[in-house]
Amino acid sequence: MKALFPGSFDPITLGHVEIVERGLSLFDEIVVAVGVNSAKKYLFSEEERLEMLRLCFAHQPCVRVVSFSILTAELARQHGAPFLLRGLRSPQDLAYEQPVSFVNHHLNPALETVFLHSHPATMHISSTIVREVIKYGGDIHGLVPEVLESFIHQRFAAKS
Ligand code: ADP
Repeated sequence: MKALFPGSFDPITLGHVEIVERGLSLFDEIVVAVGVNSAKKYLFSEEERLEMLRLCFAHQPCVRVVSFSILTAELARQHGAPFLLRGLRSPQDLAYEQPVSFVNHHLNPALETVFLHSHPATMHISSTIVREVIKYGGDIHGLVPEVLESFIHQRFAAKS
């Protein structure tokens, strides 16, 4: 069975990776989909976010990386994915995710959202916090996959 794991991944963090790795014990294939919303301001471009995902999952043949700018429910239909994978860190995440999952089910009744609780070791990590650490030159070790550390330093140095 295939699952879609959509997100902004601006940038991908160890929290995201942990959800994908655990998801692989439930699903045969996971399509990690980078959202591109012209109304949103990202730190990393679509290409950079895709490249980071490809670097992270290069060793995982069951993970496919794509970008999208359509409804998530429609993307799942296009990929033939009956499951949507989401991570939950907190009650706030649940409050946000619950109506979204109902609407996705309304738009695509074949789509079931599966929530995985974050691991205690990564539940404090969010892309928002990581962006702040990057902007102010803090240490990103332990927040993002090691394979991305030099990529992020180089890209961010080029932007500032
Ligand atoms: P979005 O803009 O859709 O929230 P994100 O890239 O922030 O995109 O997150 C994508 C998914 O990953 C969401 O389900 C989010 O709850 C989950 N997620 C993010 N950080 C973590 C974490 N540290 N542990 C578990 N799940 C997480």
